[in-house]
Formats: sequence, C-alpha cells, structure tokens
Amino acid sequence: MSRERYEMVVGLEMHVQLKTRTKAFCGCSTDFGAPPNVNTCPTCLALPGALPVLNERAVELGTRAALGLGCTINPTSVFARKNYFYPDLPKGYQISQFDQPLASGGSVLIGRTEKGADIKIGITRLHMEEDAGKSIHDRYPGATAIDLNRAGVPLIEIVSEPDIRSSADAGAYLRTLKQILQYLDVSDVSMEEGSLRVDANISVWPPGQTKLGTKTEVKYMNSFSAVERALEAELERQCALIDSVEQKREATTTVIFPSPIFGRCCWNRSGSTTHTRIFPSSRMREKRVSLRSSESHRAKWNS
Ligand SMILES: [Zn+2]
Repeated sequence: MSRERYEMVVGLEMHVQLKTRTKAFCGCSTDFGAPPNVNTCPTCLALPGALPVLNERAVELGTRAALGLGCTINPTSVFARKNYFYPDLPKGYQISQFDQPLASGGSVLIGRTEKGADIKIGITRLHMEEDAGKSIHDRYPGATAIDLNRAGVPLIEIVSEPDIRSSADAGAYLRTLKQILQYLDVSDVSMEEGSLRVDANISVWPPGQTKLGTKTEVKYMNSFSAVERALEAELERQCALIDSVEQKREATTTVIFPSPIFGRCCWNRSGSTTHTRIFPSSRMREKRVSLRSSESHRAKWNS
C-alpha cells in the first residue's frame, strides 16, 4: 500500500463574503433570507446597458483583511472578466481579479512543532470578486430554479501556498483564518449562510520531493470537517491511483478521475480551467489603493 510512502500537498482557497450592506457593484441589499430575486437590479441581473460601480466599503474590508494576514497591498489591482457559462451567472462572466490582485504575500500561524518552531501557512494572494447566483434543484420536480439575490455579493478569495501536509493542519488553518476574519470584523463568517466556502487543491508526493504531482480540486465545501474528510478520501484515492498506474505504466497514457463522490464536491483534473477565459473588465478595470489609504485602514483598525 503506497499510502505510507506519500504525503498530501494541499493548497486551500477560501471565499469569504464581506460584511457590506450592499453588493459589490450595485446598491442592492446583501440581506440573507429575502424572498428569491428580490435583491436584484438591472446591474446584478446583467441587463443590457447597466454599468457596475465599485462598492468602496468592500475594498476597505478587503484591504483590512489583507493587512490582518500580513499581505502587501498592491498599489494597483485590476478587475477582470472570468467568462464561463452557468445558469446562475446571468452576465456569462464573473467580475474577479486575475493577474493583478488586491494583495499578495502574507501568512497564517497555525501552531508550533514539538521543537517549538512555528508552523506557518503562506498566503499567495487575496483578491476581490463577486458571487454568482444560486441554482435550486430540489424545489420544483424536473426543473431548476434560479435565485439571483446572491449575484454580485462582494467576496474576497484567500489563496494559500501549497504548504499544508495533513488534513488536521488544513482544519487548523481554516479555523485560525476564520477567527482572524471574525476578529477583523470583515465578514459574519457564517458557514450556514454560505459566507465562507472552501476549495481544496490536493496532490500527493513522497516526502522530500519538490516536484508537485497532478492535483485535483475539490470545490464548494461549506464545512471545515467536510474539507478534512475530503482530503483524507482524496489522499486514499490518489495513492490507490498511483499504485494502479505504476502497475500499468507501460500501457497507460491518460488518467481519468471519477465523477463526484463526496457530497456536493466535484473533481477536476489539473488544468481543467480550459472552460474559462479571462479578459480585462472593460469598465471595472483598475482599482488604485494608495499607500496612504491602506495605511489609514490600518490606523483606523488599530485605534
Ligand atoms: Zn443589484
């Protein structure tokens, strides 16, 4: 059994709903629990001619979160259109940030080793984006309903370095991150209301190796214990796969991963983003956060 010969290599992406009264690019309410499609307007319904206007409060909260995680605020960040087709995404693209995020760098301390050394998980980047709507599959037999109240709600995505080596460390990282965000008061961090969602990228390697293996992505998890269980299940699956591939190496050129087996999660092959195309957003292009304004966010919070 190869499980003993391998360890998991995990990077996590946490999507965090910011605590704003209104959406990222329009004045619609972000209240949870409103009747379907009540909190909508031409902008978040993507009607022709509607133009987005950036919510400065969202930028302030995103900047505060980044400073709290020790990130560097980039003087200029750029919004981009992430194009993909999905019924609950009326524009056909999500406004996000791609190659120039709001902030980069940073770390989260999750504990200490037996010898007293810090266990730190690096933060690669923190970027701003809007949420999509919600598809409801269990309301009407044979049909899917769409609720766009969430469409355009402001999120930050916090992307970790692939520094996590166990499901327990993944849980510790997520719980620590949640505490920090709660302390910073940038989000209500309610898992039940979907304010925090986690995607996990996992591959396996023999300890000591430096070349990353083929990763899979487990998406849309809204409980930390689900993340831990998903990582354990995926470790088992990838180890078994490596065993079988090693046995059949001469005859095998392609490895196909199975379809969803873990609740709402789905499995993607590495490089599966080929169905998305990213372009600069024509209207929401650049956001400049001056050193003075990011320092004023820090000063406000420290006072
Ligand atoms: Zn709206």
